[in-house]
Amino acid sequence: MFRIGQGFDLHRLVDGRKLILGGVEIPFEKGLAGHSDADVLLHAIIDALIGAAALGDIGKLFPDNDSKFKDIDSKILLKEVYRQISDLGYQINNIDSTIILEQPKLRDHIDIMRNVIAKLLDLRVDQISIKAKTSEKVGIVGRGDAAIAEAVVLLIK
Ligand code: MG
Repeated sequence: MFRIGQGFDLHRLVDGRKLILGGVEIPFEKGLAGHSDADVLLHAIIDALIGAAALGDIGKLFPDNDSKFKDIDSKILLKEVYRQISDLGYQINNIDSTIILEQPKLRDHIDIMRNVIAKLLDLRVDQISIKAKTSEKVGIVGRGDAAIAEAVVLLIK
């Protein structure tokens, strides 16, 4: 049996926060605001996994008014979702994702993110795709005020 899942997330870019994407800290003058570490890419992947298994959404599993999740490393949340879908008998076939961010350039960090995510999910690096693009200076992302991520996953049982 195949199950597809889709995930989307957006976080504001603000001063005074670390920029964490795909579980990797990226040197930049701003970071993403949020209750957790605000890793927009991992959140989109988490929601895609949750969606594929029809388990609700990230806010249902990890409420943002729960102090337990304050500033939490999103890798821990991804691990927990992976445990839940594994318990249901699912394996991940592949993940494809896109980060939309005006700055900084992500090219040098993409393969590091893929390796981090592969390790967390017991996958090969070639099962994980991360694409990066800008918003052509248009809108909230184009002004450098936010980052967006989208992800699609295919589960097999
Ligand atoms: Mg989020």
